[in-house]
Amino acid sequence: MVAGKSLCCICGAYVDASSLVIVRIGEGSFRIECPSPKCPLRELGFVRVAHSSKPKFDVRLSRMFKDWNVLLNGKESCDRLVRDLLKQISSRLRKIVF
Ligand SMILES: [Zn+2]
Repeated sequence: MVAGKSLCCICGAYVDASSLVIVRIGEGSFRIECPSPKCPLRELGFVRVAHSSKPKFDVRLSRMFKDWNVLLNGKESCDRLVRDLLKQISSRLRKIVF
């Protein structure tokens, strides 16, 4: 991670894969929530798990969350931070699902 660059929720909470709240909302689907209990947005994204020979995690982050972080970090840094976050969310999910 690059110093000074990090993903933030619109409420100001610092967001990374370990602080995010991942809630199971159904068979093969999860909701990603902001780590702050006072957050007015709460939902930062959704995950669908596709099972074939090995599970695939289709993680969708909310448009508002991404747009906000493009403003904060610039498009290039935001894209990189989001890519890292998605990878880390997938490895966290792998532990939850199995
Ligand atoms: Zn928040």
